[in-house]
Amino acid sequence: MAKNYIFIGAPGAGKGTMAELMIAAYKPVHVSTGDLLRAEIKAGSTLGTEAKSFMDAGKLVPDEVVAGMVAAKLDTAAVREQGFLLDGYPRTVRQAELLDEALTQRSLKLDAVVLLEVSRDLILKRLTARRLCRGCPAIYNVLFNRPKVEGRCDTCGGELYQRSDDTTETALNRLSVYAAQTSPLIARYEKQGVLVKVDAEGPKAENFVNLRHALNLK
Ligand code: ADP
Ligand code: ZN
Repeated sequence: MAKNYIFIGAPGAGKGTMAELMIAAYKPVHVSTGDLLRAEIKAGSTLGTEAKSFMDAGKLVPDEVVAGMVAAKLDTAAVREQGFLLDGYPRTVRQAELLDEALTQRSLKLDAVVLLEVSRDLILKRLTARRLCRGCPAIYNVLFNRPKVEGRCDTCGGELYQRSDDTTETALNRLSVYAAQTSPLIARYEKQGVLVKVDAEGPKAENFVNLRHALNLK
């Protein structure tokens, strides 16, 4: 049966990296609000232009905007067949309420909310050392997960770049936004009995083993 998951964790906790591995192994539909917003920016849409100013300041994009993008994704046939992996959504109590409604309306159920746990020091290091590929979804880190050839993707040879919101200043803002607005969701999902905590301090292969064990995946 298709499983439905949410990944939460501070920026830099490794949600995107773990999502990439989950997708390769189990094929859930990846719904990353960060990626959806960056795609809107790239396409030059009105939504993208509006979102960019929030993102570059390390602030959250308004709840209704992201909720609308997520709802559209939940309506696809692929979600019913393969399940979903929500990455970076919900991030506020309001978004969690909107998601509950959206799931109820569609008779979809959450199997687990995964909390990726990483210390603050490690998060700051990871964020400012993160590099993304222009050609594919691969994620690198110049400290912990270096590409074989500097500036080039191992998988597709694409050019690597740093996200405009991965500077120290914006990373600090994103961390305080997480503490204030997103961390209250942990207690909410704990109460619902769906929270699964995963140690995500190690190298990515090790974290993925922890994750699979926590979710009872083969
Ligand atoms: P990270 O988890 O490393 O912060 P994301 O790619 O998930 O990276 O998000 C980047 C930015 O996109 C956030 O700082 C925020 O501005 C915006 N964003 C992403 N998801 C949401 C969301 N659920 N609600 C509001 N803003 C969001
Ligand atoms: Zn690549």
